[in-house]
Amino acid sequence: MSKRDYYEVLGVERGADQKEIKKAYRRLAQKYHPDRNPDDSSAAEKFREVSEAYEVLTDDEKRAAYDQFGHAGVDGEAGGGGFGGAGAGGFSDIFGDVFGDIFGGGGRRNPNAPQRGSDLRYNLELDLEDAVAGTSVDIRVPRHVECERCDGGGAEPGSTKDTCPTCGGHGQVRMQQGFFAVQQTCPTCHGSGQHIKVPCHECHGDGRVRETRTLSVKIPAGVDTGDRIRLNGEGEMGVNGGPPGDLYVQAAIKPHPIFQREGRHLQCDVPINFVDAALGGELEVPTLDGRVKLKIPPETQTGKLFRLKGKGVKPVRGGAPGDLLCKVVVETPVKLNENQKELLRKFQESLGENNSHSPKKSNFFDGVKKFFEDMKP
Ligand SMILES: [Zn+2]
Ligand SMILES: [Zn+2]
Repeated sequence: MSKRDYYEVLGVERGADQKEIKKAYRRLAQKYHPDRNPDDSSAAEKFREVSEAYEVLTDDEKRAAYDQFGHAGVDGEAGGGGFGGAGAGGFSDIFGDVFGDIFGGGGRRNPNAPQRGSDLRYNLELDLEDAVAGTSVDIRVPRHVECERCDGGGAEPGSTKDTCPTCGGHGQVRMQQGFFAVQQTCPTCHGSGQHIKVPCHECHGDGRVRETRTLSVKIPAGVDTGDRIRLNGEGEMGVNGGPPGDLYVQAAIKPHPIFQREGRHLQCDVPINFVDAALGGELEVPTLDGRVKLKIPPETQTGKLFRLKGKGVKPVRGGAPGDLLCKVVVETPVKLNENQKELLRKFQESLGENNSHSPKKSNFFDGVKKFFEDMKP
């Protein structure tokens, strides 16, 4: 999952000043704002990307870190395994900041406006066999859902609410920072504008409770490490009746004892004894769907690759299946008895001084000889 360059995202030069960055952001944020593109997840994704770029490039410290180290310099909080959710609220705050200034407060976010829930990510480890053949996996996903006791309102049933004393019901508070008036979500009511007198006993006023759900995920055949499967609407719940986020199940393929995967190709080592290597023969090699016979020609050297066409992985995005590459590893015999050793000594004698039986060895020693001759003055 490679991120686009922040300057490219905003369409500005690397040396752009704050004014240019703000202008570019305003134009793109208006174009992709979720309110203008309901149900368009690609616009939401663009909006998020643009907001993130804006957030980094307007912060001198973050921008300097980004200019020097790229995404690695500013991704500290976003990384990590397990579950990560990008809070939709954070981006809306940036939006409110810029637009609040332009429209003189007219663009202030309605604290009760629906907001889409955060996306969640689930890291799923898969065996190679399952990834290649496709499978169905049950996963347990913790997430927030609406509290049933208070219907998400956060107030104990039968109790009443009144206006938040901190923000006077606006859900936002304005703070002066240098030349800028910055709007922030009210720390007391977290944007709802309401003060709950008696918090719900179930969710303690949060309006949501944590729940672990078991979901059945269909893994398509051919997935590879890094592939993501999106489950629509299975992310965090929305705020104020907004739609829920999505759940992304990200695949990671476990190492396999026999096969190494290289995209759609598989590779495996096939050990053979030196007699088979010298005389040729037929070997049984493993494939993901059973054993197959592989003919080895005489005089096969260690490291030689044999390609079994179509015995690799059928890519998840379509196309022909890859190949299985069998790498021959010639083994030196061990635990020989006296008789066997004697046979080998006799065999050695039969070779004599003739190096033509060992092509690599003769090349090597010719090279060594030349090397020392060249060194002489
Ligand atoms: Zn509740
Ligand atoms: Zn408040």
